[in-house]
Amino acid sequence: MTDRLSEQIEKAQMVLIGIGDEFAMRYGAMETDPFYRPLLEQAGGEENEAQLVQYLRFHYTRRHPDGRLLSAYDRLAELLEGKNYFLVSLCMDDLIYRSGLDAGRIVTPCGGFRAMQCGRECVTDQEPLVTDVNVTEALLESIDVCGGDLEAVDFPVCAECTKPLWFNRIESPDYKEEGYLADWKRYTGWLQGTLNRQLLVLELGVGMQFPQIIRFPFEKVVFFNQKARLIRVHSRLYQMTEELKGKGLSVAQDPVEFLLEQGTESSSAAQETADLPSETDGSSDDRNH
Ligand SMILES: [Zn+2]
Repeated sequence: MTDRLSEQIEKAQMVLIGIGDEFAMRYGAMETDPFYRPLLEQAGGEENEAQLVQYLRFHYTRRHPDGRLLSAYDRLAELLEGKNYFLVSLCMDDLIYRSGLDAGRIVTPCGGFRAMQCGRECVTDQEPLVTDVNVTEALLESIDVCGGDLEAVDFPVCAECTKPLWFNRIESPDYKEEGYLADWKRYTGWLQGTLNRQLLVLELGVGMQFPQIIRFPFEKVVFFNQKARLIRVHSRLYQMTEELKGKGLSVAQDPVEFLLEQGTESSSAAQETADLPSETDGSSDDRNH
């Protein structure tokens, strides 16, 4: 069975994908987990609580990656195979880099767990980012064996000021944008090449978190490119703007579920909601408005 999303991808010359909040790892289960609960309790109220929570979420993400998310990314990689695509993701769990998607076609401007940084402007002759995997591996192992006591954990420290390092994430103090700027430059160059091309823009669970990174610029791209189409998948914020109604399709569904249902025999729900307009009719689907 050929599904409609794969047909839309097939028809496009270039595919731009935005991935948002609904695709991010969830951490609620840590609060009732016998391993993490005492550690979170100990972190609570500490002066550097936000930093300690980062360390614990890093450990949880690496040790318990969400298999459903990984499968959805792999499904997306299959759908995009052989296509000229680029992905912008707001997620900070780095799960996307564990999939079959090409890391050279991904930018994650909010950062993640792949690099660490000092929380102050103390960098002199040091590189601003610590990307040594031995540092993060040692941290993982140190948390593995801490026996429920954060004080037993060896936290990596800044070589300059010896304060514990933060992860290179947008929520960290003095967020060092060096972590993504080279990828961002590659992305903007790619985007310039989409002009006058058959461009499919696919938004997966983006919503209104940092709308200046994906949601607003993507709408602009679709508006100005006569050959562009937008598919917006979100469980709640799937609405299409008035100006894009002839070029866009809203899918009111959880984007992870949407991807997992693509191309499967039992995808009756996806068939119903993902009934994409054909290239020729140009009509909008406004059932969801
Ligand atoms: Zn420092």
